[in-house]
Amino acid sequence: MGLIVQKYGGTSVGTIERILRVADRIISYKEEGHDIVVVVSAMGKSTDVLVDMAKQITSYPSEREMDMLLTTGEQVSIALLSMALHTKGYDAISLTGWQAGITTESIHGRARIQQIDAARIQSELGRGRVVIVAGFQGLSEEGEITTLGRGGSDTSAVALAASLNAEKCEIFTDVSGVYTADPRVVPAASKLDSISYDEMLELANLGAGVLHPRSVEAAKKYKVRLVVRSSFTAEDGTYVEEVANMETGRVVSGVAHDEDVAKITVVGMPAKVGTLSRLFNTLADHQVNVDIIIQSSYDAAVTNISFTCASDDLKKALDTLEAHQQTLGFEKVDHEEGLTKVSIVGSGMINNPGVAAEMFRVLAEQEISIKMVSTSDIKVSCVIPAHLTELAVRSLHSAYGLDVAETAVVHGL
Ligand code: ASP
Ligand code: MG
Repeated sequence: MGLIVQKYGGTSVGTIERILRVADRIISYKEEGHDIVVVVSAMGKSTDVLVDMAKQITSYPSEREMDMLLTTGEQVSIALLSMALHTKGYDAISLTGWQAGITTESIHGRARIQQIDAARIQSELGRGRVVIVAGFQGLSEEGEITTLGRGGSDTSAVALAASLNAEKCEIFTDVSGVYTADPRVVPAASKLDSISYDEMLELANLGAGVLHPRSVEAAKKYKVRLVVRSSFTAEDGTYVEEVANMETGRVVSGVAHDEDVAKITVVGMPAKVGTLSRLFNTLADHQVNVDIIIQSSYDAAVTNISFTCASDDLKKALDTLEAHQQTLGFEKVDHEEGLTKVSIVGSGMINNPGVAAEMFRVLAEQEISIKMVSTSDIKVSCVIPAHLTELAVRSLHSAYGLDVAETAVVHGL
């Protein structure tokens, strides 16, 4: 039996009772003869609680001390899970990121893993132990404790699975897999049996939430077989793998939506070489994350530039623009809040023309106005008024044959 890496998220280890349940699940795999490396997140929302405590002291905590603080969350859960296994009669050992040999870049708050020296993990496995590793943390070459960015435990798990050449990496979470749409919005949504890395990456970046985008990137790069499944049931999850469901011929695999989108229009920017570079570098310097960008020229001298950002970043973006109005030389800034980005994602789009046209038709039929559009090889996104989100997502889900009854026919279930 091969080695399996399992990752349990915060909700899955949110209480002592749940930790005991996770221990039982680990034991069932152990009994099947598998070697198990477990990665855990901090209990429940405890990372948020730690962030909050720091904020009560200062709005600008030292990044080093922040990492020192936040990494304690995972140390609580690894120790408790290890104890739970001990009391059930199984040998287990908890390891911090650094004990597990995880080296990261020398950046605080969002370090990337550079390498893993798995010698310690291998030797513990050799002793028949379940190895429990703290997610989301590592050590820089300078010997400083680092974190991988919020939600980073998924990435710890995938990196460990790659370095240990694991059979698969199972991500246990509070949903039972990857769905064709958010089931809270679309009752007819269904769980996908499998999805390709690229589709999953689009969905993760579109805020689908189940997986940290960097973990999907790493899984694709190192060909790690990923499974997303529930820690509360025995149900099969969704496989994320290279060639997913080529046979079904589906064009669209899922409909995602991201609420809380804001749109900003910079009116009357001088239309010169380097205009876009100056504008977006200024925003980037102030940590404003920009998404869809549209430039429209209405005469030779000036141009209007619209872009979207998260509603949370709106104030920062507007303040930044106001502070740089003189140097950037634009006339004024307009903005609009209360928008949603709805997206259709599917590898099948590459070989099927007219997918975007169909999306526009479906939205028009529901009298939903489209404010902005962006596309990639396997995705089309439209920005629409937020109050029409449900209608848009449901109509698209149904138009692309994803509603449960129809998929049942297509997949012959
Ligand atoms: N505990 C960390 C967080 O809340 C890492 C993780 O959960 O993946 O962001
Ligand atoms: Mg997570």
